[in-house]
Amino acid sequence: MSSETRKLLAVFAHPDDESFICGGTLAKYASAGVEITLVSATRGEMGRRMGNPPYLNRETMAAARELELREACERLGIQHLHFFNIRDKTVEFADPDQLADRIAGLIREVDPDVILTFHEQWGGHPDHCAIGKATIEALDRTELEKALYFISFGDAMEYPEVYGYFKKDIAKINVSGQKKAKLAAFRAHRCQTEIDEWVWLSDQQAMRRLGNYEYFIKGNEEALKRDHDDLF
Ligand SMILES: [Zn+2]
Repeated sequence: MSSETRKLLAVFAHPDDESFICGGTLAKYASAGVEITLVSATRGEMGRRMGNPPYLNRETMAAARELELREACERLGIQHLHFFNIRDKTVEFADPDQLADRIAGLIREVDPDVILTFHEQWGGHPDHCAIGKATIEALDRTELEKALYFISFGDAMEYPEVYGYFKKDIAKINVSGQKKAKLAAFRAHRCQTEIDEWVWLSDQQAMRRLGNYEYFIKGNEEALKRDHDDLF
């Protein structure tokens, strides 16, 4: 391993994608000295959860969720945060060429070793799939050799065959030591998690709900060269 700082760029759609889906992995690499840059394409202002009891509205939600994301970044050790200021739930309607250009610019500027984004088919939300598709296109445009991975939900990729993949296509990261940080990030996104009772149980009880592993689909040849249990 070189002595240069390792870098990771995560390109996601909403405040909370980073924490709920791969917060353990981000916390793990941040604590190992990896410099992490996060993009949230939107401010999540169309989220259906308005706090419990509700205290937010469409006007106040964007600012609240931005603050929550900043706190989550602190909890996970994410150093740099960028918003693309695309309206929530409209990423799929953003100009794909401009969006890819913007992400390509960031890839050149950050020069990461690893890029995380959503799978364009298995993203689970139109905004997710759209930002994933744009990131794939962006990396192509840079012609840089960076390891690209798609984040995945829960332990679905314990059985990758269901999705047309094999074990060799999957990275499985042990995040059992990062549950405290991940839980803190869940709690930072409080307007989204207030109605989830388990999040607010004792630390010990809540952490039991968090899995020991997070899974990533290898998105290109560079990623396939890497080990099964490490993104770098
Ligand atoms: Zn999302």
